[in-house]
Amino acid sequence: STATALEEEPIKPAVQVEHTQLLIGGKFVDALSGKTFPTLDPRTGEVIAHVAEGHSEDVDRAVAAARKAFDQGPWPKMTAYERQRILLRAADLLEKHNDELAALETWDNGKPYEQSAQIEIPMLVRLFRYYAGWADKIHGMTVPADGQYHVQTLHEPIGVAGQIIPWNFPLLMFAWKVGPALACGNTIVLKTAEQTPLSALYAAKLFHEAGLPEGVLNVVSGFGPTAGAALASHMDVDKLAFTGSTDTGKVVLELAARSNLKPVTLELGGKSPFIVCEDADVDQAVELAHFALFFNQGQCCCAGSRTYVHERVYDEFVEKAKARALKRIVGDPFKSGIEQGPQIDSEQFEKILKYIRSGVQSGATLETGGDRLGSKGFYVQPTVFSNVEDGMLIAKEEIFGPVQSILKFKDLDEVIERANNTRYGLAAGVFTKNIDTANTLTRALRVGTVWVNCFDTFDAAIPFGGYKMSGQGREKGEYSLKNYLQVKAVVTPLKNP
Ligand code: ADP
Repeated sequence: STATALEEEPIKPAVQVEHTQLLIGGKFVDALSGKTFPTLDPRTGEVIAHVAEGHSEDVDRAVAAARKAFDQGPWPKMTAYERQRILLRAADLLEKHNDELAALETWDNGKPYEQSAQIEIPMLVRLFRYYAGWADKIHGMTVPADGQYHVQTLHEPIGVAGQIIPWNFPLLMFAWKVGPALACGNTIVLKTAEQTPLSALYAAKLFHEAGLPEGVLNVVSGFGPTAGAALASHMDVDKLAFTGSTDTGKVVLELAARSNLKPVTLELGGKSPFIVCEDADVDQAVELAHFALFFNQGQCCCAGSRTYVHERVYDEFVEKAKARALKRIVGDPFKSGIEQGPQIDSEQFEKILKYIRSGVQSGATLETGGDRLGSKGFYVQPTVFSNVEDGMLIAKEEIFGPVQSILKFKDLDEVIERANNTRYGLAAGVFTKNIDTANTLTRALRVGTVWVNCFDTFDAAIPFGGYKMSGQGREKGEYSLKNYLQVKAVVTPLKNP
């Protein structure tokens, strides 16, 4: 069985950890304190490497480097075409190092290597090519104002961007943040998540090889309340972009407001409904709902974590969803054919097991799973609950693990009301063959993304972000550019009207 396979020696990743220092002003440097912290292999809980631990004085240094690169360096002043060419060269280098990046990502995060190597790194490359494409297509307007004036708007980079990213998609989050900021000509201080510092350091080094001037992209590893808070509250950071939990989002928004009122974009938590209508092909619906929840070990802010199923197909759906979860292949993420690796760390692992116990105690039916898998690392059995009710904690709070909660509904008005009855509004899945049902649900759901008969489609051009407490602003697509631009109105009287 899979659990037995987990007792074997973990597969050795085909990559060396080359970079563990902070990247400031184009150079790898130790933290000023000399401190390091261990980053762990989620398969075993063992140390992969000791990484420089940035604190506020390191953030100060990184912001100073980014400030200098913005105020005095060539980056914001070079032609858009030159900036575009650097981004395209960086994308080529990322593509060339696909397998090393994928191995680092899997080693540090625990996600299946095939997912990293075949999906995520290619998406990273695609994102940077997409944003390279925008670099020379950012322009203002001429404005027909009253009176005899020539009026135009200039779209200028906002300055030094502070960016704080989570651990669930370390490199994709890097790309969502760094891509638009660089395309617009900003400089950056990025703080990676303490669980997954390795891949961003490698990727940022490739940007320098591609010709990115020093100080434009600085990467600080470290913890949230120290390095992260220092960045959010820095007086010389002009813009903050954050992805993480809703609770931390509130903290950084407050830090930004209390310091220099830097504008903030937030991409936060979710509790996304996945709605299976009565006309659905049950086998297809089961497969898609399974993917919507279990993808990336269930560690997705937009996971379809409330599976609403119409009563007419409910019993058949539950039986098949259970069978599908039982077939899910869990194991060493470096092994071929693996669908699910370990959770990121012991904290998330314990939290997930606590939610599972809470589901059982609150009276939901545990169809399958419910426990850890193996005896080392942070593997959790694919778990399915049926007879879940809206008031239960497992239906209200973000579990961020491989735990599917299935709820029954009778009609559209009811499911719309229940799906919207949450403080979150990140995404929703709608599964139906009826176009009227699809249109009705699409318009009624208060969420930033509705996936109809698909899920987790993350094209570079499609905007992503949340309604309500799932966030502020949009990332990806053209929409993300305005997060990184200032608009300057220029008004000139006309001499000879
Ligand atoms: P998660 O539960 O996914 O770890 P967090 O919101 O805690 O979500 O973490 C997301 C990112 O926010 C990480 O890079 C983390 O270090 C950072 N972070 C956590 N706490 C703070 C804080 N008080 N100030 C700034 N950043 C923080």
